[in-house]
Amino acid sequence: MIELRNIRKSFAVGTQRLEVLKGIDLHIGAGELVSIRGSSGSGKSTLLKILGILDDFDQGEYTLAGTRIDRNLSQTRAAHYRNQFLGFVFQSFNLLSFKSALENVALPLYYQKVSRRERNRLALADRAEHLPSELSGGQKQRVAIARALISQPKLILADEPTCALDTQTTQEVMDIFKQVHGAGMTVVIVTHENDIAAQTQRMIRVRDGLIVKK
Ligand code: ADP
Ligand code: MG
Repeated sequence: MIELRNIRKSFAVGTQRLEVLKGIDLHIGAGELVSIRGSSGSGKSTLLKILGILDDFDQGEYTLAGTRIDRNLSQTRAAHYRNQFLGFVFQSFNLLSFKSALENVALPLYYQKVSRRERNRLALADRAEHLPSELSGGQKQRVAIARALISQPKLILADEPTCALDTQTTQEVMDIFKQVHGAGMTVVIVTHENDIAAQTQRMIRVRDGLIVKK
């Protein structure tokens, strides 16, 4: 599903360059449930953004679901690949505050030009009409996960999805990811929490911009 070869990424910080990813090699097969662990600042989010075609890389090769993802893609092309392959779940939920839970879930369908009538046929539980401000953290994250799943992506990318949640809700969210994985989807979860990582099939560790070899 994912094949990375010697991926490098640096940022300009003042007059210096900060090397964040220093040659990442990574293979993730279709249907895997994987965690990417590492301390704060180790480059996890940078790596996930590259996987999610939300940011460019400086060097290396990226193949996603058999498609070579080139550097310097146009915005349109990047968005096309994201719509085709990917679902995202973020720590901060990234829900639109002025849209109901149902409309948030249906958002990817809107981008895929599915008609409003079709979108409104989505069956959601009792909270469908609520705005994000009327939902608990756990409910918001469930809406965000439903949104990530709605277009049946090949790959779900989650960046610290349980960071803002209490222990019980964290477990509920992890259970959803396990179900999603059970249904055959590939799931990559970035976390700095050991007990989250321990619930995945494979733990990948990032340190100083490199994958730590076991
Ligand atoms: P993690 O998610 O593991 O905490 P990040 O990938 O967010 O780490 O960040 C890795 C390093 O890259 C940090 O030192 C961070 O400050 C730096 N960094 C991330 N994004 C940028 C950016 N857009 N510009 C400059 N520095 C950045
Ligand atoms: Mg991060």
